[in-house]
Amino acid sequence: MIIPLNKLVLLVLLGSLWIGTTVSLAGAESADLASNTAERFHERRMMVETQLQGRGREAITDKTVLDAMLKVPRHRFIPENNRRLAYSDGPVPIGQGQTISQPYIVALMTQALALKPGMKVLEVGTGSGYQAAILSEITPYVFTIELLRTLYEFSKKNLTDLGYHEIRCHKGDGYYGRPEYAPFDRIIVTCAALHIPPPLMEQLTPGGKMIIPVGGQFETQRLLLVSKDLEGNRRSETVTLVRFVPLLRGAPQDDL
Ligand code: SAH
Repeated sequence: MIIPLNKLVLLVLLGSLWIGTTVSLAGAESADLASNTAERFHERRMMVETQLQGRGREAITDKTVLDAMLKVPRHRFIPENNRRLAYSDGPVPIGQGQTISQPYIVALMTQALALKPGMKVLEVGTGSGYQAAILSEITPYVFTIELLRTLYEFSKKNLTDLGYHEIRCHKGDGYYGRPEYAPFDRIIVTCAALHIPPPLMEQLTPGGKMIIPVGGQFETQRLLLVSKDLEGNRRSETVTLVRFVPLLRGAPQDDL
């Protein structure tokens, strides 16, 4: 079939319009985020260029991840008294003895997950909501669990203020995942566990991946990328060594 040139142009235009609509399903509602994305943009660009792209052999190269890190206003996830530290190359306290991870670690974990638009992802340890916002720039199906009420409320406010209305926040013990929404294509755990929680392994789709720091509170932990094959067998590799706050166990605690 021969398509006349003017019809071809129309088809291409319609195609790109369709792609545009699909992509805009992920992320915050643009009116809310547009002005916030301009805030401290220069610092964010420096963060991306020096801390993520400029890390030599360990550089972050996934464009989707770099774009998300450039877009999400990290400072808006940090309590006022620490906001000046928002774009520094390290973790920052967010209250309750918890921290928002170093930008490089957020990017590294997201890149290792190989998250694609349309995938369903579960995060354990919402904290400030920053990592959830980064995930939500890639796929609209983000579920996140936080154990501590103060941080659950803090993250919900941060995400709502910026227009991330699609992220499903839950207060509870993330060790048990969210069976009612399982299975998940990807799982990201942002606190260190002593072992890989079996309920999370069960809730991973065959062919899925989980990234999780494993090790004790006062030791260097291993950041593991765990894959579940189509037969349900698991394989894990160490991505790097890390220091995370611990995954807390026991009865759900309201505060520390
Ligand atoms: N991802 C966060 C940082 C996480 S810090 C961000 O982007 O800001 C680790 C978080 O895990 C803390 O908020 C801590 O309260 C939470 N946490 C610890 N144990 C947990 C558990 N069992 N279930 C859910 N959340 C837990």
